[in-house]
Amino acid sequence: MGSIGSNLQEVERRIAQACVAAGRDAHNVTLLAVSKTFGADAVREAVAAGQRAFGENYVQEALAKIEALADLRPQLQWHLIGPLQSNKTRPVAEAFDWVHSVERLKIAERLAEQRPPGLAPLQLCLQVNISGEASKSGLAPAEVAALAHAVAALPPERVRLRGLMAIPEPAGDFEARRAPHRALRELLAALNEQGLALDTLSMGMSADLEAAVAEGATLVRIGTAIFGAR
Ligand SMILES: *Cc1c(COP(=O)(O)O)cnc(C)c1O
Repeated sequence: MGSIGSNLQEVERRIAQACVAAGRDAHNVTLLAVSKTFGADAVREAVAAGQRAFGENYVQEALAKIEALADLRPQLQWHLIGPLQSNKTRPVAEAFDWVHSVERLKIAERLAEQRPPGLAPLQLCLQVNISGEASKSGLAPAEVAALAHAVAALPPERVRLRGLMAIPEPAGDFEARRAPHRALRELLAALNEQGLALDTLSMGMSADLEAAVAEGATLVRIGTAIFGAR
């Protein structure tokens, strides 16, 4: 592994190359740097290298880091990508910009109630268990439409439904890696055919970002390839 700055450059290069292969514009793929388990200093180093959007899994850890980096807050975007329980919604509604892991209406309703009116709307994605793994969180694909319509009906000045997130099962070759990303893309397209206006496919991690970009990812969540092994 190189420095965080050179790792970021390498990830940007992978995204750009995957976009060329897919005939896509690299401006349509946002890089989310997943900083879970790494300290505020590592985030600072990434910010110095130009990175602005960061993903965190654990609410307590993230809140401490956001606090430690309060001087940079206006430049940064914080995304919660890990599970969210209802007793933690208030600090999340107050401190984050995005939540990717919504899987219950109750959670989205609490986030809408608790989002401070002075802040921009909290941006939401629904997490889908796209590979159907018994152990994984996320909605079954058949449950997505009902929740999407309910979340989209919440007050838009508090929360905005932006799209879908998934963590597919690891797969061996490129074609096998594409399949779950394609399924998520098709699910999003079906929701838009039903009248929703969703623009975000949060998919692709260090090991499968090329497959995700090939299938239309608009936001890739990369940890290991930037910060190193956890
Ligand atoms: C940890 C994590 C990532 C980053 O995974 P890497 O393999 O380290 O790139 C992305 N998304 C979610 C939801 C994660 O928990």
